[in-house]
Amino acid sequence: MFEAVEPLRRWLAEAWSANKRVALVPTMGALHDGHGSLVQLAREHADLAIASVFVNPTQFGPQEDLASYPRDLVADAEKLSSWGAAALFCPAAETLYPAGLEGIRVHPAPALVERLCGPQRPGHFAGVLTIVLKLLTMIRPDVAVFGQKDYQQFRVISQMVEELFAPVELICAPIVREADGLAMSSRNAYLSPAERVTARALSRTLGTILRLYQEGDRRAAALREAGWTAWQQWRSGPGVPLDLEYLEVLDGMALQPVDQLAGEGIAAIAAHVGKARLIDNVALRPNSPDLALLRLLHAGEVPRVPNGEAREGPIR
Ligand code: AMP
Repeated sequence: MFEAVEPLRRWLAEAWSANKRVALVPTMGALHDGHGSLVQLAREHADLAIASVFVNPTQFGPQEDLASYPRDLVADAEKLSSWGAAALFCPAAETLYPAGLEGIRVHPAPALVERLCGPQRPGHFAGVLTIVLKLLTMIRPDVAVFGQKDYQQFRVISQMVEELFAPVELICAPIVREADGLAMSSRNAYLSPAERVTARALSRTLGTILRLYQEGDRRAAALREAGWTAWQQWRSGPGVPLDLEYLEVLDGMALQPVDQLAGEGIAAIAAHVGKARLIDNVALRPNSPDLALLRLLHAGEVPRVPNGEAREGPIR
């Protein structure tokens, strides 16, 4: 476990001199099996996987949950070692922001943050890009693994890497879900048992859109409409009602509206329930990594899953 940069650099120098490929998995901790799948992919693409655990203050807005964000470094270190990560980097904020939090920022191209989480979280993606660029330049990994769970984040990072010629290969890992379809997230810890039940509405809505897409419909408005109808059914189900922040069907690269999905599309949703803001998405392409969601829709009513206790294993 490295908190300081110098010992980390020595470890990296040894890895490089032994010609080892290094993969980085940046996280904010409170690790779950979704993060585990990223470490697994990192190990498949490199000799050594290093994970970072850092709750990045610059990506939180003033009204957001920076202070209450779940933190458990001991449990995180144990999980990382059980997943086969070779190292953990868990620096203090002063280490990554030596000039303070008002220092330099890397801003995303405006078009990619015009929709989805962009308008709701001003400055969020600049905070993300800034910390990711710091980690990439500090660690210089051959590969960096991010999750599709934060798809807009993945797109802005890909664009940064491309436009700044950053010498790193990026991998986008599929979303790991609970048995009832809820995307795993550190923020699911905020959900009460009743909120946890209604939270299934997000993945059900996206599953409905994906099913229509798989049936051949490529009209973005029709796909969104089907999702909206499903959402209204699901949002006030047996648990606590959810408040929709957005539900969008967009071109998957530009993250902009289109009439017809020609290439890959994305259906994305964000909603508030209790203290939690939840996000989820599905890739709209014939071999979508989210097809497992369709099984749940076909299965009809799924078992109640109290507070994250799954009856089956996670869906991958
Ligand atoms: P976080 O710790 O929430 O900032 O997430 C760290 C990385 O894990 C990001 O690249 C996320 O997209 C990814 N991630 C979070 N949840 C999941 C999930 N359920 N499945 C796969 N990857 C995930």
